[in-house]
Parts: sequence; structure tokens; C-alpha cells
Amino acid sequence: MTSSSPPSLLDLKSLLPEELRTLVRQLGQEEYRAGQLLSWIHGKGVEEVDQMSNLSRAFREQLKARATLSRLREVERQLSPGGQAIKFLFELPGGERVESVLILDGKRRTACLSSQVGCPLDCKFCATGRMGFIANLKAAQIVDQLLQVGRALLAERGERVSNVVMMGMGEPLLNYEELVRALRLMRLEHGPAIGGRKVTVSTAGYVPGIRRLAREDLNLGLAISLNATTDELRDQLMPINRKYKIAELLDAAAEYFSLRGRRVTFEYVLLEGVTDADEDALRLAELTRGVPCKLNLIPYNELAEDTPFRRPPADRIARFRQLLENHTPMAVTLRESRGRDIDAACGQLYQAQERRRRAAPAG
Ligand code: SAH
Repeated sequence: MTSSSPPSLLDLKSLLPEELRTLVRQLGQEEYRAGQLLSWIHGKGVEEVDQMSNLSRAFREQLKARATLSRLREVERQLSPGGQAIKFLFELPGGERVESVLILDGKRRTACLSSQVGCPLDCKFCATGRMGFIANLKAAQIVDQLLQVGRALLAERGERVSNVVMMGMGEPLLNYEELVRALRLMRLEHGPAIGGRKVTVSTAGYVPGIRRLAREDLNLGLAISLNATTDELRDQLMPINRKYKIAELLDAAAEYFSLRGRRVTFEYVLLEGVTDADEDALRLAELTRGVPCKLNLIPYNELAEDTPFRRPPADRIARFRQLLENHTPMAVTLRESRGRDIDAACGQLYQAQERRRRAAPAG
């Protein structure tokens, strides 16, 4: 072969079982080797092909000629003073950064993962939205967040991640192929084995993505960030609403339930004087009446940057919740702000880091 440009290398961390089987067959090896590779990559989490000690040296050399094993670089880790959340900041090869959070809640160990660097949707209250869109993460980079967070949890506390939520940076349904590939890898028995009921994808309301996800054989939990009860307000807070209106979003949610048999969760961020009026509570109950769902109220996490939004006072939050509960048959929950002390709302650790970088460019 005299080709001048070398073929691009595969990333072993992104490959699904059938793709790994094809690769090992092409390399003249038996198919069971694919299972060994999956265990090394997603179970033991090795960093190098050469650490795969039950593979022959010749086979490892063949693998390295065709593929790499990518890895995110951890650049910062913060434990909340209350000890309920651990936040990780990772660097991609190009220097971009994403964050992941491990939330310790009762017996649950939930990894909150990012799907994009930045986000194109520009929700006005969200720290990630202020970054604009920078890049889609590859499946390997989504999976690697879970692998690294999982390894830290095991090393420090002897525990395993039990749940995954796609609620970090980015809009998961706008990075659909890589997202679904990552979710298929996470649920393999060779690896973290987290799938189906233990995974929740959160969307700002990208309707075509919801309809497509409803047709996957993954049975994921779906959370929809509703955040407003009129199109007029939602158009302003979440510009994606100009394209996909509330009625269409609710219709897609109902379809998700009918195809997957899983109740969706509507998330509703409480912004003082913007989304926390009594009429909003009543409209929220009314709007969601036809969709089997759960309602999750999220008191706004104030950003360090200057934004016009504030978290409502505790009595307002309590009243909103009570009114909603009085008018809906659906389960209502209030998200406590775990890790508020460590910049834990989306994009906030990233923002804090960037500020420090800008303040001390040499360091
Ligand atoms: N793009 C996806 C997932 C990331 S945001 C989505 O929109 O669902 C995850 C959740 O955090 C969303 O419900 C969003 O509305 C909420 N959120 C964003 N910024 C927040 C903040 N500063 N305080 C509280 N919740 C916030």
C-alpha cells in the first residue's frame, strides 16, 4: 500500500460490541477478544492498550496501529463542604473543558454528565448558554466522564455509580448519535452496567429528538425543562420555544409515555418574579394534566455573573409548591440545591475556572 495519507485511527472507547468484533476479526483474532477489550476499556478502565495483559503483544501492536484509546484529562475536582457533591472539570485534547458532577444522595450515586462543550440553545438563565456552542462531545468523551467519576468514587469511598443524568453542559438531543452510542456503551455488562431505568436524558425541548428517542429500544427516563407556562415567556427564556411551542412539546412528551411507558419529568426552574407567580403554578398543573408525569421544581441557582434572575425566597417557593400540589394529581418534587456551595449548577464550575484563568493568565 502506498497511500500517502494514513487512515484515521479508530477510538476503541467509542466502539460498540459488534464494531469491536468486526475489528478483531479483521485483525485475524477470535471474536471473544472483543469481550476482553470491552472489559479492559469499560470495566477496568485501563489507560493504555499495553495494560491489557491477557492480549498478546503482537495483537496489542496490531490494535495500536489501527486505534487509540482516548482519555479526558482531569483538571480540577471540588468537594462540596457539605460533602454531598463532587464536581469534576475535564479537558479535551483541543483544550476545551467540560464538567461532570457526582451527587451523593441517600444511597444514590448519580453522575451528572455533559453532552456538549457549551450549548447552542441560549437559555437566558443558564450558565452554559452564555458560552455559546463550542463542540459536540464524542461518545467516548461522554462515557469517559462516567468512567473517571466512577473510578474516583470507587477509590475514595468504595462505592459505585448507580444513576446517570444527562444534565450537565449541553443539549443532549442535539448530539444525538454520540449520545445514544454512549448510553449503549454505559449499559454493557462489561462496564458500568448503567442502563434503562437508571438513566435520565434532560432536554430543553428539542421535539424531533424526543420523538426519535421514544423509538429507541433504550427505555430511558426523559426530563423536559419546561420552565415557563406561556409561549410568550418561554420564547424569551428559552429561544428554542420559538421553533417548538409548548403544545408541541407536551404532545411529544405524551408520545414518549405512550411508546416507552415511562412517565416524563417536567423540570421547572423557579425565577423570582418571572416564573413563580400563583397563576404559573395553576397553569403548570393545567398544562401537564394530560401527560402522565412528575413535576420537579428547581429553585434558581444564582450565577456568579451578573444576570437579572434571582432565586425566590423560601416562602414563595413553598407556596408555589403547595398550590401546584393542590391542583395536580402528579407527583411534585423540589430539588434541593446540592452543591450550590461548589458552583454546582450547569456550567458554573467552568465559569469560575475561566474567571480564574483570565485573572491569572500565567498560572
Ligand atoms: N440542555 C438540557 C440539560 C442541561 S440543563 C436541558 O435543558 O434540560 C439541566 C437543568 O438545569 C435544566 O432543567 C435547566 O433548566 C436547569 N438549569 C439551568 N441553569 C440553571 C440555574 N442557574 N439554576 C437552576 N437550574 C438551572
